[in-house]
Amino acid sequence: MNAMNIKTQIITTAAQAVALIGLIGVIAVYSQMTWTRSAALTEATNVAQQLAGTITFKASDDPHSLFERPNALREFLTSQHVRSHRDFVVVDRQKVVLADIAGEEHNIGGQFTHDLGNEIASTMEDGRPRDFTEVSPEEPQGVEFVVVPVEEAEGKIIGAVLLETTPILLEAQQRTNGLVWLIGLCTAAAALTAGIFAFFLTRGFNTGLTGLTQGIQSLAQGDVGARIGNISENEFGRLAQGLNAMAGELETSRAQLLDQKSYIEDIVQTVAEGIAVIDNEGRVASVNPAASEIFGRRHDKIEGQEWQSVIDMQSVAGDKLAPGNSPIELALVTSRPYQREVSVLRPDGSRRLVVASCSPLNRPDGGVVLSLNDVSELRRAERTVNQRAEELAILNLELRQNSEATGRLVKLGELLQACVTFREAFDVVGSAMPDFFKDLSGTVHLTSASRNLVEEMAHWGDVRSSAAQFGPEDCWALRRGQEHISGPGLLSPRCSHINDGGTGGYVCVPLAAQGETLGILHLCEPQAAAKPQWLSDWHQILRGVADTLALALANLRLRETLRQQSIRDPNTGLFNRRYIEETGNRELRRMQRAEQPFAMIMLDVDHFKQFNDTFGHEAGDLVLKHVASVLLDHARETDVASRYGGEEFALILPGVSLASGAERAESLRQAIRQIHLVHRGHTLGTVTASFGVAAYPDNGVQWADIVNTADRALYQAKNEGRDRVVAGQSNPAQATAV
Ligand code: GH3
Ligand code: MG
Ligand code: MG
Repeated sequence: MNAMNIKTQIITTAAQAVALIGLIGVIAVYSQMTWTRSAALTEATNVAQQLAGTITFKASDDPHSLFERPNALREFLTSQHVRSHRDFVVVDRQKVVLADIAGEEHNIGGQFTHDLGNEIASTMEDGRPRDFTEVSPEEPQGVEFVVVPVEEAEGKIIGAVLLETTPILLEAQQRTNGLVWLIGLCTAAAALTAGIFAFFLTRGFNTGLTGLTQGIQSLAQGDVGARIGNISENEFGRLAQGLNAMAGELETSRAQLLDQKSYIEDIVQTVAEGIAVIDNEGRVASVNPAASEIFGRRHDKIEGQEWQSVIDMQSVAGDKLAPGNSPIELALVTSRPYQREVSVLRPDGSRRLVVASCSPLNRPDGGVVLSLNDVSELRRAERTVNQRAEELAILNLELRQNSEATGRLVKLGELLQACVTFREAFDVVGSAMPDFFKDLSGTVHLTSASRNLVEEMAHWGDVRSSAAQFGPEDCWALRRGQEHISGPGLLSPRCSHINDGGTGGYVCVPLAAQGETLGILHLCEPQAAAKPQWLSDWHQILRGVADTLALALANLRLRETLRQQSIRDPNTGLFNRRYIEETGNRELRRMQRAEQPFAMIMLDVDHFKQFNDTFGHEAGDLVLKHVASVLLDHARETDVASRYGGEEFALILPGVSLASGAERAESLRQAIRQIHLVHRGHTLGTVTASFGVAAYPDNGVQWADIVNTADRALYQAKNEGRDRVVAGQSNPAQATAV
């Protein structure tokens, strides 16, 4: 039923309705005819029973019934035939015909044998009326009869009446024929109406459905412009109108969609980002111009190809990606989005750095969309920026280091300027240098005043790479007056003063200032072979340190010279009177604090004027120099010898008593007498001197007391004949000769 189309269903239903109506009609007609026959038979039976009653009726005046009077019976039969058109036959108990209808009188007296089922005898047996059909040669069609018993008295059947029922049946049939016709006609009309209804319904349905079907088929085939014409007023019409409206909407939507699609296509074609679609079988479905540019292939050479054969993605470093690691494979396999930066290798060998994002498409047939963002320029710019930043950082560091180094240099300079002696200065150098040169070891060497010896003055670090003392000719830096570097890969010769510690690499920088070379600054790097750049890191600082150091040392030397000049006598090299006054005073105090004695010797060359006068002033100077050297030779470390004035000398002897001082003076006197001088071929003769000795605590507490006492003792020695020693008395007035 479900498989049937609606049209067939309508036709089937209509046919069923027609059949049903027909069936009802036939049943009605049949029932009517059956009922008619049954009614007719009942009527015939009644008539026959009335006739049987009449036949057996006995009037009060006549003891014989019609049954017993055959002629009267036959007259009654005839009268019934004429009057009521009732034809009947009367038979006795033996089925012998007693009376028959007109024209059939020949049957009287004969036995009625045309009841094939012997219905007459049966009725006469049980008294129940029956009907039967008389079949005889005269009546081949058969004549319908009912047979009723003729009862003389209650229960006594004497014969039977056979009533011909055909006229009554015909009469009854005529009476009901109209009804039967009506029923038949109604049935036919109903069936016809059902048929016509079915026809029109089918036709209307057909027409409406055909239009609808065509419209829907056109829509299904994508023809959104198709419309259903000849719209009827029925439901199909309304359906068609709805469909047309829907098609209209669809057409508008499609137009908008197409518009949108072309808009999106425009965007995809012009966007700077590369876009490629890859189907679920791994074939490239489409690429936009940007993607084709990145891949370095024409779009028609990419589309339709296996993606692996046209897209070569590698790591940013340019290495092949491990199998299954490209974002396309990952997205295809896992149906999840993946993104990574890759290097696309193009057919011409060039590369593009791109951020590749691959996302699964939300479509039943799957596939992925690959978007490519070219970051080559960005990365290049980043690299440049990073490079600049690194350069800047290095520059910054250098600047900071330089500024730190400059700060340290300034501090070093200040410290060195504050130093009074070379010793102090070299202590400063020894502790400051590791700050400048970190792990490097080194030394500072100073050229002696005699210029024939270079001596180590300061050292720092763990390595000793130079001899502590050497000649100026042993150092190439001093020889050439310029920086000398030696080490692996350098052709420059090694200085002789360099020992095994300096075999790695070293540098000697001359310490030159104010036109004078004072010594060298020496640095060594035992690992120079492994650090070819070792010196370049320090070069600038090294120069700064050397300059600062040289300047400071030159200043120090200058100051020392000036100081020496201010306290020494240039002719004899002894300290001058100002210096001995200062030093003597200070030493006297020190001895007093230490509760030690303090002696002073004053001496004056005897008749010195004669040397000048006889041999010249130069000879006089020579005498003075030799006397001075005798004094220096005899002086102990703590003693201080000085030229007190002209040809007069003074010695202070801290810690020496008056007696010991006198003894020292005596040995000096004898030593001076040993001086033998020849000047320009002339023997100068014996040099003698007179001595005055004074001491603390014997001759006083004040420096002036000691000086005055010694002076007076000297004066006394002159007066007593010269070439002698006089020690001061505790009482200054009593000076006595030794
Ligand atoms: P006396 O024994 O009494 O000390 O006799 P004198 O000749 O040594 O003493 P005097 O004071 O008469 O003479 C000192 C001379 O020394 C005077 C001066 O010209 C000389 N004289 C002083 N200083 C120098 C000097 O630096 N060089 C030379 N050649 N002569 C000097
Ligand atoms: Mg003199
Ligand atoms: Mg004198």
